[in-house]
Amino acid sequence: MNPLRILLLGAPGSGKGTQTSKLLKKFHQLKSLSSGDILRSQIKQESPIGIEAEKYIKNGSLVPDSIMVGIITHQLEQSKWLNKQSSWLLDGFPRTIHQATALHQVIKEKANFNLVVELDVDQNVILDRIEARWVHVPSGRVYSLDYNPPKVPFKDDITGEPLTKREDDTAEVFQKRLTKYNEEIGPLKDFYSKQGILQTVSGNTSDVIYPKLENLIVNRFS
Ligand code: ATP
Ligand code: MG
Repeated sequence: MNPLRILLLGAPGSGKGTQTSKLLKKFHQLKSLSSGDILRSQIKQESPIGIEAEKYIKNGSLVPDSIMVGIITHQLEQSKWLNKQSSWLLDGFPRTIHQATALHQVIKEKANFNLVVELDVDQNVILDRIEARWVHVPSGRVYSLDYNPPKVPFKDDITGEPLTKREDDTAEVFQKRLTKYNEEIGPLKDFYSKQGILQTVSGNTSDVIYPKLENLIVNRFS
């Protein structure tokens, strides 16, 4: 299989984290980086970046581009992912056109994306189910009390550690995140569409979306 360098786009709560977990199980060469998970672990550690980022995350704003570009490019370099052989997936970054152009400068020669997939989920469906979402912060594993409940209530399946609610998953803050997403997504899609690497996968549940996503990858890369 050829190297996969995938970006997942999609509204908050569209299931990027869930799709990522499924893809990692299927494609063993793939590694992933989620900007939201990185930020939440920084917050937990009370690092300077975490303390700064929390101010924005709490009220549903985006963390400034300069901070985000710094964190993610540092991670990509540290993990030695910037070469033509490696396969990886990014979830949650880039999410503004400025982040996309800045990242492009870093990866274009060495390891540009070869597939950008937008998860297209009805936003009314997302709003209905967001209150049911619980997460395991250390791993980024996501559960829905309605669709994929943990085996033991409110405990992570793998570690048994407690699940928590994200502070930004309240109805009010969530609506703000959705609005922000809708403002930013147009230019981002144009940017990748011009590179000929943008695809859209539609569906209202992960079980509908996942097979389509897997097919897309298998057809393009094997
Ligand atoms: P989901 O609910 O599916 O995880 P999301 O994309 O809204 O979707 P995260 O990616 O976990 O959630 O991000 C949570 C918060 O972290 C965002 O609302 C934002 O404040 C901040 N954040 C994460 N990634 C970025 C980024 N690339 N640029 C700016 N802020 C970011
Ligand atoms: Mg996420």
